[in-house]
This record gives sequence, C-alpha cells and structure tokens, in this order.
Amino acid sequence: MTGWDALRGLGELRFPGDPGFAAVAPVNRRFAATRPAAVLSVTSAADVARAVEWAREESVPLVPRGGGHSYAGHSAGPGLVLDLRRLSGIRVEDGTGRVTVGGGTPMKALYAALRPWDLTFPLGNSDTVGIGGLALGGGVTTISRAHGLTCDALVSTDVVLADGRVVTASADEHPDLFWACRGGGGGNFGVNTRFTFQARPAPAGSTCVVLWSWPHAVEILAAMQEIMLGAPEAFSARIGIARSPGEDGVVSVVGHHLGPRSELRELLAPAFAVAAPDRADLEDRDFWAAARFLHHGSDGGAFAARTRCTPHAIGDAGLEALVRAVDKWPGSGSPDGAGAALFAWGGAIGRVPVADTAFPHRDTKFLLSLDTSWTEQDTPDVVRANLDWLHALHAETGEFAPDAAYVNFADPDLEDWRGAYYGPNAARLAEVKRRYDPDRFFSFPQAL
Ligand SMILES: Cc1cc2nc3c(=O)[nH]c(=O)nc-3n(C[C@H](O)[C@H](O)[C@H](O)COP(=O)(O)OP(=O)(O)OC[C@H]3O[C@@H](n4cnc5c(N)ncnc54)[C@H](O)[C@@H]3O)c2cc1C
Repeated sequence: MTGWDALRGLGELRFPGDPGFAAVAPVNRRFAATRPAAVLSVTSAADVARAVEWAREESVPLVPRGGGHSYAGHSAGPGLVLDLRRLSGIRVEDGTGRVTVGGGTPMKALYAALRPWDLTFPLGNSDTVGIGGLALGGGVTTISRAHGLTCDALVSTDVVLADGRVVTASADEHPDLFWACRGGGGGNFGVNTRFTFQARPAPAGSTCVVLWSWPHAVEILAAMQEIMLGAPEAFSARIGIARSPGEDGVVSVVGHHLGPRSELRELLAPAFAVAAPDRADLEDRDFWAAARFLHHGSDGGAFAARTRCTPHAIGDAGLEALVRAVDKWPGSGSPDGAGAALFAWGGAIGRVPVADTAFPHRDTKFLLSLDTSWTEQDTPDVVRANLDWLHALHAETGEFAPDAAYVNFADPDLEDWRGAYYGPNAARLAEVKRRYDPDRFFSFPQAL
C-alpha cells in the first residue's frame, strides 16, 4: 500500500485526471495552474482528524477547501486538498432558532433549508460560497448593517486541530480559539467541521438596482456616500463604477432595504436629485425573493481584487481618481470587466468592540474594492496590463484610504497583509496560532 492509499477509507480520494477532480479546482482561474497531488472528499469530523494525522506523518501539506472561492486561491495547494463539501448537513433547532451546519455547506443549501423556517443569519450572495470561508473571515452581507457579520451570529464551532484532536470552541470552551474563528480567516487554526449560528426571523424589505450614465459618476458616488453615512441600519448598498469590454462605463447602486420600497425611494431621493438615472428598479420583496434578486453570479474566469477599509467617505479628489482609472482600464476578454465598488458598512458591524472578535475593521464605513478580470484565452500581456493597472490604482488609493484590507477578499499581492487584514488583533491572533498550531501545520501563502 502506498502512503496515499491509506486515505482511501476516509472518503473519496481523487488524483489528477480522475473524474470529478476538476470540480475542486480554484474558482478563481488566476490560480488554475495550482494542482493538488490529490483531493479527499470527507464526510465526517473523524475522517478529517485521521486525514490530518496522516498528512502530518507523511509530511504532506494539507489545505481545507469549502466552496473554493478564495480570491487568492488559498484552498488550493500542491499537496492534499481536503474537500469539505460533503460536510453539509443542516439542522434547525425548533424554539431557539439555532442552526447547526456542516463546515463545507454552500449558501444555496443554507437558503433552501432556512426558508421553510423563515429564519436567517447573515449569508453571502453567491450559491456556491462555503459557510466556512465566509464565517471564519467575518462575513459581510446585505443585512449586516442591521444584523452584524456572519461571525457575529456564531455560537460555537467544532474544529479538528493540527494534532488531530476535535474540540468545540465557544464563549465557554476554548474561548481564545472561538475568538480567532470570528474573523481570523479560514484555514489558519484547523478544519472547522461544524458551525452553530443564532438565526433570527428573516426580514422582508425592498431592493433596488439603479444605473446612471458615466458623466455623472463622481457626483453620484459623492451623493451616495453621503446618503449611506446618514442612512438607517436597515439600508445597505453597493455603490459601483465599472467598465466591460467595448462598453461605456456605468454607475450602479445595488441596495437592500429592510423596509418598504416607499422608504427606499425616499432614501435614494438625494441621488435622484443629482442626476436622473437611466434605470431605477425598486421593488418590495420578501427576504427570500430579495436574496434571489441580489444573487451574484460570475462567469468563472480569472480575476484579481484589492481592498481598503475606510472609516470615512472618500473625498472628490479620490472619487475623481477612481473614475479616471476605471476610464483607462486596459481591457480584456472578460465580460466581468473591471471597476471599483464602495460597500457601505457601519451600523451593527460597528457596535461590536474591536477586541471582542478577531474581525478588526469595526469602524469601517466603506469597503473600497478594486477589481479586474480576464479570461484564460487572454494573452500574458493582457493579464500583465490588467494587474499593472490594478496595482497602480491600489497604490493611488493609498493617498485617501488606509492600508486596511478585508481578509475574505484575500489579496495575494498585499505586502503587509498581517497588519492590513488584522490591524490591532494581529498580535493576539499570532498567539492563538502558536497555542493551537505551534508547528504551523496549517499553512498557505498568507497563513498566520
Ligand atoms: C461570487 C462571490 C460572492 C461573495 N460574496 C461575499 C459576501 O456576500 N460577503 C462576504 O463577506 N464575502 C463574500 N465573498 C468572499 C467569500 O466570503 C470568501 O471568498 C470566502 O473565503 C469563500 O469561502 P469558500 O469556503 O467558498 O472558499 P474556500 O476557498 O474553500 O475557502 C476560503 C479559505 O477558508 C478556508 N476554509 C474554508 N472552509 C473551511 C473550514 N470549514 N474550516 C477551516 N478552513 C476553511 C480555506 O482553506 C481557505 O483558506 C464572495 C466571494 C465570491 C467569489
């Protein structure tokens, strides 16, 4: 029996070329060349523990993979990828609203299981994003200004540690590990095989998609920032400027308000007064219809994103710089194009003290996300031009927004990623890492 054969009893083991192997490739095709030696699809915490012990003994690097959406390809590696997608059981406890889910559960399954109960907690807007990556890095969603982060709803989690032990982390048991699992980023402390969250009644509300033409970009961005700084916590919005190949730039606001469309219209009135939109689609929707409407698909190509968390609005000079840069996007074959987006944070996110969880960016008012995309058919020159464009824009935005980045939009090109992702919580996270994984068995390019 070869070393790898010892894994066969622990789940489905696949090698390159086996049927189904490609299904666990990184979602971001920028990292398509990273090919693991093998993929093991596990179905229980006990099997995860035995696989971890095996990998230690054989000195094979191991990374857990949930939905595979890491922007930086962190759930792919050269050794063993532990595919958690079959750890996907979901149980809702009647009476308490506590929801226990397997560590690899995708959003689509969660929405489907919670809908009959009309209960929810902050969930991402893509069908295939995994609960593990989302919750461990924080988890900011369209209801987060009212309901907090995904990790704020976490009650406990079962973790397979580097030595193969399975522990439960909660406010009472292994509280330091529990603290680290709330924003410290996936893949750092162990394999989380199960999570329990506190759900709440799913709030009905309304949604909007509003588009303006390019000449209004700066004034709409400025007006929308002003609106969001004064908006009730029930309203959240993504304010974007973007370009696709061969198209003019477009300004968009995609919003979710936990209140009626009439209120949403009033909230947006100052932006409508700045310039008449080309399209304004405002609808009352129950929570489940809103989630479906706000669902984000991707064409599955390659992309790069860089972020800055800012505690204040961006001034006109900064907004002009963003618009100028998007105007000069070098282009690629990807219909996803490139752009800059301001995600409004604040509200309930900011009410949790910075030291209470590992997620440090509690004072952020806007997450500035800069992104570009290309296809696998684009030439290396096109890819280089896109990355150069993104890096130059990221450098320029350093003049008006801090070096603070969101770990769930992992950025492989970030230099001081410890400081940027974790700020004042970096030192305590390093201590927790030393305690639970002293040999740094769980490792990837930006592992603590
Ligand atoms: C289309 C799209 C929509 C998104 N929407 C949102 C959003 O609304 N809000 C938001 O905050 N973010 C969002 N994100 C970002 C997303 O939260 C992160 O990319 C997240 O890390 C993805 O988790 P995953 O399990 O799918 O990815 P993976 O690549 O599988 O995992 C990400 C990291 O977590 C680790 N990991 C995963 N599961 C576990 C586990 N059970 N135990 C231990 N480690 C684990 C992996 O090893 C890896 O390091 C979105 C991303 C995409 C591509």
